[in-house]
Amino acid sequence: MATLSTLQQADIQHFIHPFTDSKTLGEKGTRIIERAEGVYLWDIEGRKLLDGMAGLWCVNVGYGRQSIVDAVSKQMQQLPYYNSFFQCTHPPAIELAKTIAELAPAHMNCVFFTGSGSESNDTNLRMVRRYWDLKGQPTKKTIISRDNAYHGSTVAGASLGGMSGMHKQGDLPIPGIVHIAQPYWYGEGGDLTPEAFGLQAAQALEAKILELGEENVAAFIAEPFQGAGGVIIPPSTYWPEIKRILAKYDVLLILDEVISGFGRTGCWFAAEYFDLKPDLISIAKGMTSGYVPMGGVIIADRIAEVIKNQCGEFTHGYTYSGHPVAAAAALENIRIIVQEKLVEKVATETAPYFQSRLQQLAEHPLVGEVRGIGLVAAIELVKDKSLRQRFNSDIGVGTWCRDLCIEHGLVMRSVGDTMIISPPLTISLAQVDELIEKAIKALNDTYAKCMVYK
Ligand code: PMP
Repeated sequence: MATLSTLQQADIQHFIHPFTDSKTLGEKGTRIIERAEGVYLWDIEGRKLLDGMAGLWCVNVGYGRQSIVDAVSKQMQQLPYYNSFFQCTHPPAIELAKTIAELAPAHMNCVFFTGSGSESNDTNLRMVRRYWDLKGQPTKKTIISRDNAYHGSTVAGASLGGMSGMHKQGDLPIPGIVHIAQPYWYGEGGDLTPEAFGLQAAQALEAKILELGEENVAAFIAEPFQGAGGVIIPPSTYWPEIKRILAKYDVLLILDEVISGFGRTGCWFAAEYFDLKPDLISIAKGMTSGYVPMGGVIIADRIAEVIKNQCGEFTHGYTYSGHPVAAAAALENIRIIVQEKLVEKVATETAPYFQSRLQQLAEHPLVGEVRGIGLVAAIELVKDKSLRQRFNSDIGVGTWCRDLCIEHGLVMRSVGDTMIISPPLTISLAQVDELIEKAIKALNDTYAKCMVYK
């Protein structure tokens, strides 16, 4: 049987990890996660961890769902694979498209299936450009996104995203994609009130449309709240102003709900939470709770009509678009969410409790701000609370906190010195208490370690 050290050695030798500095990883060693149940993970040494990140924001129904295993196994026996090209289709993909259309906002009734969130955003780019071509406005091609957005890792996905570190590698963004400032009040709002800053950040969209000419702008892409960027929730003034601007210039809205979809905010989609009427919604992650990879794009009727009736062949698609096994996993995952009333439970019970308990952490001397909606939140670690002043980024206070969380049996992720949390939607109130207690211990230890830098 493989021992911990032989596995670690083979891992370092052969496995290039995503978003990882392999050299540092080799020096620090890897943590091998071996099994999971409910909201808990166990590493190979038997250490139990509360998964405050639901994997990578995806395991919405929690781990160990036998009924998803059974649905997948049954589908694998019956039809493990077939495509939906060349006049073919199959029951799981049909049923899933219909189910998602029923859950989506009323004006959205079609789905294009992909294998991931990145592929969903690549699909969006091609679909909006094709749409404007068919509408006789072929110059409407540019897509406006935001700094520090995350829309995936493929060439289009990383270009649509606004991560400067990603743009530096591989000569990105590709032409036709531009970025405006993000609505990050805590980090960039200065002396403005959140409301005034939200308006200012939204008006950057109008300025950019005017600069480019509205006849050249196809779409605005945004996460309802930025996830990987640090759980950045726009001030209340932001989305209403964006809506006004998009309507004025006839610019499409691509809402990237790869994280927010399937219940995270206490609504099926955050479009509902923020009262938005998107033209396209990117989905993945919570669609299958990560049990099997799958993504998709939910399409508004005005776009679908054109793609269906005027496009001829839409020359786009993936071998695994609508994969029957992934579709079976998604259908069972959605059935669980419906049956256990998880969306309603998050809205009325878990999220209010989670958010109120988290606010207690705002009292901590290391914590500058706690913000969140539904079952997602951020904790800003700062040197000086009143000045919103951060530690020197070279110190890596966020990484310390992340590592100390692990020592206390909790997975929280750090984005710089912002700690982010997004547990499975199934987390119980007692498990929320456990998460908070572990977080406090990690914050105390991090604070003690930071004292020399205060
Ligand atoms: N969009 C958003 C908002 C995401 O958070 C992610 C992944 N974290 C993606 C797109 C890309 O999804 P994937 O990793 O499945 O390609």
